[in-house]
Amino acid sequence: MNNCVFCSIVGGKIPAEKFYEDDDFIVFADIEPKAAVHYLAVPKIHYALLSDMPDGGEALGRILKKISALAPELGLKNGYRLIVNQGADAGQTVFHLHIHILGGQPLPFADMRPR
Ligand code: 5GP
Ligand code: ZN
Repeated sequence: MNNCVFCSIVGGKIPAEKFYEDDDFIVFADIEPKAAVHYLAVPKIHYALLSDMPDGGEALGRILKKISALAPELGLKNGYRLIVNQGADAGQTVFHLHIHILGGQPLPFADMRPR
């Protein structure tokens, strides 16, 4: 048993405000929201990074398509931003692949510019 926080959420060992779940992934509210609406889409299989995923990426394609279908119900009628932090320079803190879903307000760009 690893001690990955997102594996624990997937396994129901620690609670989360779950919005959606299927065989491939779950969507739950970020515990420290960085926008008016902030969810995380998390594959159920533990991959630390995109580079650890098997070739093909079909699961990721399905997740992205599903996010677009869920967006109106998530309160994202005016658009949204998806972010996938990869590694230290991106500030990744949880090393279980996840897609941030951000919106519910006009989103600033400042944090996305290279410094
Ligand atoms: P990262 O910085 O790795 O891209 O994003 C990790 C995200 O996971 C952060 O936005 C953080 O607030 C969120 N997070 C960390 N621990 C928990 C938790 O136990 N529950 C939930 N719902 N979100 C978490
Ligand atoms: Zn994990």
